[in-house]
Amino acid sequence: MRLILLGAPGAGKGTIAKLLEEFDGSVQISTGDILRSAVKAGSALGKKAKAYMDRGDLVPDSLIMDIMEARLQEPDCQNGFILDGFPRTIPQAEELAKLLARLKLKLDFVANLDVPREVVMDRLTTRRTCCNPSCQAIYNIRNNPPKEDGTCTLCNHQTIQRDDETEDAINNRLETYKQKTAPLIGYYEKEGLLKNFLSLIASDTIAEIKKSLKV
Ligand code: AMP
Repeated sequence: MRLILLGAPGAGKGTIAKLLEEFDGSVQISTGDILRSAVKAGSALGKKAKAYMDRGDLVPDSLIMDIMEARLQEPDCQNGFILDGFPRTIPQAEELAKLLARLKLKLDFVANLDVPREVVMDRLTTRRTCCNPSCQAIYNIRNNPPKEDGTCTLCNHQTIQRDDETEDAINNRLETYKQKTAPLIGYYEKEGLLKNFLSLIASDTIAEIKKSLKV
């Protein structure tokens, strides 16, 4: 499959993408995960991106497009991909359309995870993420906690509250979403590619996405 997952921070894009990966070998591409790994590794990209990320601002489009141009041409994308957190702006969506045309690839559709603000706020403040860059498993201290000592059930690394999950940064990320990313809903609706998914239960959303892929 070739999908874009659209939705506010905390809408469940990462969780849905990981579940869809198991379905047909398509690969999750999370620009947020790529950037966090770069920050952790202290690479040139990470150094440029860190301050934007910590504030909850978007990283400049040009940096993101450089990452995605290379990433979409890696061999593991041949079975398909699930874009998680990209595109985030209209210019990114326009550049993606050109890139896909060049690579002769077509999207199945854009899945908009439409989740109320109170729900995403609650999810973000209770979220914990595995600090191991090659794992980055997501937990929730209420309904899907890590081990009692706070370590990851999959790889035993410590789980952490991300730097951009303080209340100020979360408020800024939600405002940035409203101003810069939400306009993509109208953009993809016009392109005839948008499908809305309203369920708050990941397994229901997965079932609906699979059904939509078969049509
Ligand atoms: P995420 O994990 O998708 O919420 O991303 C975490 C942070 O990485 C965001 O708040 C942005 O600072 C940055 N980021 C991730 N994806 C993008 C993107 N497509 N465009 C710009 N910034 C991004």
